[in-house]
Amino acid sequence: MSRYMKKRYQGFASYTPGEQRNDGTYVKLNTNESPFPPAPKVLAALEGMLPGSSPDGSLSGFEALRLYPDPTGRTLKEKLAALHGVAPENIFLSNGSDDILNFAMMAFVDDDEAVAFPEITYSFNDVIADLHGVKVNLIPMRPDPHAGFSDKTGDELFIDPADYFGLNQNIIIPNPNAPTGTVLTPGEIEKIIRTNPDHVVLIDEAYADFGAESVIPLTKKYDNLLVSHTFSKYASFAGGRLGYAVGSPGLIRDLMTIQYSTNPYNINRLTMTLAEATVDADAYYRANAEKIRATRARVTGELERMGFEVIPSLANFVFAKHQSIPGRTIYEEMLRRFVLIRHFDNPKITDYNRISIGSDEQMDIFLERLRDVLRESDSK
Ligand code: PMP
Repeated sequence: MSRYMKKRYQGFASYTPGEQRNDGTYVKLNTNESPFPPAPKVLAALEGMLPGSSPDGSLSGFEALRLYPDPTGRTLKEKLAALHGVAPENIFLSNGSDDILNFAMMAFVDDDEAVAFPEITYSFNDVIADLHGVKVNLIPMRPDPHAGFSDKTGDELFIDPADYFGLNQNIIIPNPNAPTGTVLTPGEIEKIIRTNPDHVVLIDEAYADFGAESVIPLTKKYDNLLVSHTFSKYASFAGGRLGYAVGSPGLIRDLMTIQYSTNPYNINRLTMTLAEATVDADAYYRANAEKIRATRARVTGELERMGFEVIPSLANFVFAKHQSIPGRTIYEEMLRRFVLIRHFDNPKITDYNRISIGSDEQMDIFLERLRDVLRESDSK
C-alpha cells in the first residue's frame, strides 16, 4: 500500500525494462539496441555544438542549451518527411516511441472503448492501457497463417490478420511483432485498416528497418493509420530517445494536442540536433541494418543446428526455444557466462528466449558460450 499514491494506481504493475548492465562485463543481447556506434556525422554534429564551433560566430549548440528547443521540431520534421516521402505535417516527434503509444492511448481511445492487440506482443501496450484505464481486447495467437512461411515450431505464436478485420476497435500491432519477430504483409495490414475505418490502427514499426516493408505509403490513402518509428534500434540512438509517428495531418494534430498538454518541449536540444544528423546519415544505418540481417541468418542457422527451433524473424532479434532445455535455464546459464538475453515469465512463451542480433563478434561469443551450456547439460 503506497501512502500517497492515488487509489486507482495502488498496486499498479508498471513496465519492467530489460536490464542495463553496461560496464563492459556482459555481452548485451537483451534490449535490441544496435551494436554499432552512431554515425560519424552524428559525432560531427555533437562536436559542432561546442562553443566556438559555429563558423559564422552564431550561438553554438552548447550556448543555446539555456534556450528552450523548438517545440515544433520543424527542421527534424522536414528531414524525416523527405526521408519518407511525406509532408512535415504528417510527422509527430516523441521522446522515444513508447511516448507515442502513451499519447495515442490518451488521444484516440474513448473511456467506453477497448483497444485490441495481439496476446503475445510488446508488453508495454498492456501497461499503458492499464494506466489509462482502457479495456484491452487480447486477440489470440495462431499457427503461422502464411502457409509454407518456414515456421518449424508449430507453436501458436503468429498474428492472423483475419482476426482483426472489421473489429470496430482501436488496434495496435507491432510489425514485426515483438518478441516473436513475425510480420504481416502490407496487403494484410491494409485490409485491417480498411475494415476498421472508424478507429485508429497503430502499426508500430520499431523493428521494420531490418527487412519488413513499411506501411508508411498507406498513410496517404487512409486517415486512420498511424505508423510509429524509433531511432532506438537501427539508428544506434536508444540513449538519445527519439521516436516519431507518421499519419494523416488530423491524427498528428490530435497527438500534438495531447503532447502540448503533457510536455510541450518533449525533444531536448541535444537530441534534436543529433537526430537531424542521424537522418542525414541514413545510408550508414541502412548498411548496418544489412549487416544485422546477414548475422541474423547465420545465427538462425547455427541455432537450428544446435537443436533450437527459431521463429522466422524480420527483426533485429530472434525468438528461439531449445527442444529439451527450459528457456529459463538457458537464460540463467547464459547470464552466469556473462551473456544477457531476454526471458519472459509468461507461461505461453516460457520455453523461449529473445536474443538480440549484435555484431558478428558478439554473436560468436554468444554461440560459443551457448555451446558450452548445451555440452554441460548433455553431460548431466
Ligand atoms: N515498440 C516496440 C515493439 C518495442 O520493442 C520498443 C522497445 N522496447 C518500443 C516500441 C519503444 O522503443 P523506444 O521508446 O526506445 O523508441
